Amino acid sequence: MGGHGRRRGSRKGGELRVASVVPDLPTFAVDEGFRYAATEQVAIGMVVRVPLGRRTVRGWVVAVEDDDITGLKPVGAVSSPTPIFDRHLLQTLRWAASYYVAPLAAVLPRAGPPNLPPSASSPPPATNAAARARAVYSIVGREAPQEVADAVSPVLEAGNSVMVILPTASEVAVQADLLRGIHGVRVLEVPPQAPQREVTAVWSEMTARPGRVVVGTHRIAFWPVAGLHLAVLVEEGRRAMKDRQTPTVHAREVIRRRAGVERFSVLYVGSVPSTSVLALGIELRRRSTRAWPPVEVIDRRADPGGFLADRTRAAIRGVLAKDGRVFVFTHRHGYAPAYRCVACKTLRRCPSCGSRPEPGETCTRCGADLGPCTSCGGRRFEALGAGVGRITEVLRQTFGEKAGPAGGDTPIWVGTERDIPRLERISLGVVVDADGLILGSAYNAGEESLRVFARLANAIPFGHGRHLMLQTSMPDHPVVSALKSGDPVPYLEEELESRRDLGLPPAGEVIVLEVSGGSKDPRAVLQQSIGDSATMFGPAERGGKLRWLIQGRDLSRTRQLMRGAVGRLREGGATVRVDVDPLDL
Ligand SMILES: [Zn+2]
Ligand SMILES: [Zn+2]
Repeated sequence: MGGHGRRRGSRKGGELRVASVVPDLPTFAVDEGFRYAATEQVAIGMVVRVPLGRRTVRGWVVAVEDDDITGLKPVGAVSSPTPIFDRHLLQTLRWAASYYVAPLAAVLPRAGPPNLPPSASSPPPATNAAARARAVYSIVGREAPQEVADAVSPVLEAGNSVMVILPTASEVAVQADLLRGIHGVRVLEVPPQAPQREVTAVWSEMTARPGRVVVGTHRIAFWPVAGLHLAVLVEEGRRAMKDRQTPTVHAREVIRRRAGVERFSVLYVGSVPSTSVLALGIELRRRSTRAWPPVEVIDRRADPGGFLADRTRAAIRGVLAKDGRVFVFTHRHGYAPAYRCVACKTLRRCPSCGSRPEPGETCTRCGADLGPCTSCGGRRFEALGAGVGRITEVLRQTFGEKAGPAGGDTPIWVGTERDIPRLERISLGVVVDADGLILGSAYNAGEESLRVFARLANAIPFGHGRHLMLQTSMPDHPVVSALKSGDPVPYLEEELESRRDLGLPPAGEVIVLEVSGGSKDPRAVLQQSIGDSATMFGPAERGGKLRWLIQGRDLSRTRQLMRGAVGRLREGGATVRVDVDPLDL
């Protein structure tokens, strides 16, 4: 302490530089990094090799300072002189490690390319701050790719760079094609399945020269980009924007943090903003009166039964007569249908929490006894939806061989959420059982279902009576009303209000912790370390794993405590999965 004068005064030709290096070991124990003697050449963000015990390991330089090198081993070799992060980006990387309860070594490589970065002829230019960094959400439907293109052009023309993040590979391809038509070689696409060599080449191009637009999935969220002035996030609320594996990083959260530190603007584009965006108070901008094409609501309480209402069958027949194509949307694997009382047609809902019950006699969300029909006491229930196979069978009873899987050559396609990206030339969309999705047992089922149905409606081009038919027994449900109106915001605001009351995300925080194997008793370890810093539910046992749900208004202290607990459990050989802000509860 207090040695600054001495260090500066005695420094000669770089002999007294100390580099802190985080070795590439997936453990919290090396988060602080180790100190090595370094030459002038070593800089923050470089990939180096360092001696550690009796081995030599790869590591990342997280700090360089003038200090006493007595007793320090030298950095072994510089693996690549091109830094993968600077101190601003490191700030966001550190935030992510802490927020997602991950070792720093698990987060740092995300800033770099899959292979070692090739040597740059010149160091990457420093990011010059945008004149006015701001964040806006533009609510658009099918015109999203054009909206993105309109935002990209002025930034490129000024010689600065843009990063565009989309949920899936097919959306990346569509957006990149549109941009290439306007900006040619200044568009750099990162197909998620591209060979590592190719991705590494794009990374170098992006970090070396400003005036480019990089288009990719959430994997590029940590990339250092020369002259970055704008990040565009398309449909930030979609599940694909978040990593499934630990650390469960969400692209929106990374970009939001980076924008604050690096001072660039963020444009969100999509038809259904997340409640997280609303909670942040981000300015909403509407491009048209409707965020998706018209939605017709078919009230299932009025028809005799079966999977398709008479009105729906008639509409399908009408489209087939005009050689049009129909997409029938139904349940994907893992989604349970809604049931109704055979006698009085009342939808079966948990009498305690209102969610749609899974098969069985108790509610999977709240554990309440489901009992008979709340309206007439009836005990027989019929499913309102089914999987693709069963719905195809039912359609074939009426329409013969005209029904088949999505993407095939039949005029009626049957499919699930997974098929939405491949929908082409659809005249009519049919949702067999909207209630099964709307009333799902997850706390955010309503918001998620609105997003799925809006996407589906947007896959059908406007005009000529094309529309989406939604079969439901709840025509007055807020999600259904939102779909009819074409405006998601009033529903989402109401939803955010109720999450605030319940302390659920985005108004509160939730972390799911799953532990399997290991020599230590996770119950004891967690109790000791996390203790009463948060509300813990569990453990529930599922497939040999113990699962806890940790909830609180603010879990920042719990996160710190969890690092110790998770570290100890992993040292004992346990497999630990930490899911921060889980999408399914
Ligand atoms: Zn319930
Ligand atoms: Zn009944």
